Amino acid sequence: MSNAILVVGGGFSGLTAALEAAEVGYDVFIVEKSPFLGGRVAQLNKYFPKLCPPSCGLEIQFQRIKKNPRIKFFTQATVQKVSGSAGAYTVKVHIEPRHTAPHSADLSLLASSLKGETKSEFDFGMASRKSLYLSAPFAFPSRYVLDKDGLSPEDRVKVAGSAFVDINEKAKDIELSVGSIVLATGWKPYDVTRLENLGAGSVPNCITNMQLERLASPHGPTLGAVQRPSDGKAPRKIAFVQCAGSRDQNHLNFCSYICCMASLKQAQYLREQYPNAEITIYYIDLRTPGRYENFRKKVTADEKLTLIKGKVAAVEADAASGDVILEVEDAVKGEKRKYRHDLVVLATGMQPSLAADDNPYGVTVDADGFVVDGEEKGIFAAGCARQPLDVMRSAQSGASAAMKAIQTVRGR
Ligand code: SF4
Repeated sequence: MSNAILVVGGGFSGLTAALEAAEVGYDVFIVEKSPFLGGRVAQLNKYFPKLCPPSCGLEIQFQRIKKNPRIKFFTQATVQKVSGSAGAYTVKVHIEPRHTAPHSADLSLLASSLKGETKSEFDFGMASRKSLYLSAPFAFPSRYVLDKDGLSPEDRVKVAGSAFVDINEKAKDIELSVGSIVLATGWKPYDVTRLENLGAGSVPNCITNMQLERLASPHGPTLGAVQRPSDGKAPRKIAFVQCAGSRDQNHLNFCSYICCMASLKQAQYLREQYPNAEITIYYIDLRTPGRYENFRKKVTADEKLTLIKGKVAAVEADAASGDVILEVEDAVKGEKRKYRHDLVVLATGMQPSLAADDNPYGVTVDADGFVVDGEEKGIFAAGCARQPLDVMRSAQSGASAAMKAIQTVRGR
């Protein structure tokens, strides 16, 4: 039997679960597949309910983790196999090599001297990164990661000469004994290139809501200036297309819960930067539950913001101007019309990561990829592994899963 708890996923719900359990005396292991903790929140410009930057909530959590010897975390790590039963699980974890020394050496000079660059996953392809990199200024662990496969022969020679780089470091497998498991595997933005009619990936000035978060971030590719990707121009007529992929039985057959609020929040970013911009939100329903209703009222009181209830049927580029032409079925007027905008944002839905990742946990996921059972086995889904949630509710869900995991390891 083990009193330790495994948390799979180092995003907001996973970090909350880990801290809640560790701070009342339980050993916790966090297994995170990316090189840094923080999950999707780290990519946002601001998040609800207080519209603070991600560093605000995450840095406090990172400090708590640093100070708590009961928490051990593994990055670039994935669970391969789970065997045993509630109270006594053996978990095999595969860890990819980081190739850099473990004492947070500042490798910024070496990184900037490298010639090769590749598209940054963190910035959704809107910026490039070196093969030796930190994802964000407040990345945790604050330790560079080397993408060995992305090195040119010349860059390989450079990094191999550093005392802080071990280019030959090998992957390793470890085994953890735990009594209970919290699945906080999170979500990813739906692959909108599958929505062929909405122009993502083919219309340059049609971006996703997560791309807009990166553009609006002071640490993003444009240092916070929201510009058209095709020509860097300041947008003057901006549109949001709601339910991009969500509530559609051919894509995500559910409401993603956060994207109406995300568009209203982003309309506010744009208004702060562009006082005269015309902003239009095309929607089917505008869902702003509970206290968020007040936020909707405040943002939609803007005289230059228009709400059009209607489904966007097609998104096309005007090659000469770079503008984006939307074909919209207006549900109120009962007519089909074309509208021109210079920047379009798709309110992309969230897909649970387990819809595509391996599931070695022995839990059942529904047709959309959300976990629907596991509690009888001492395995508890938290955050967006369970249902679409905002950051605050993800944290609550993480705390709730931690309490249940504690009950399991205590045998009641
Ligand atoms: Fe559509 Fe809004 Fe639900 Fe997102 S939150 S799926 S935009 S109704």
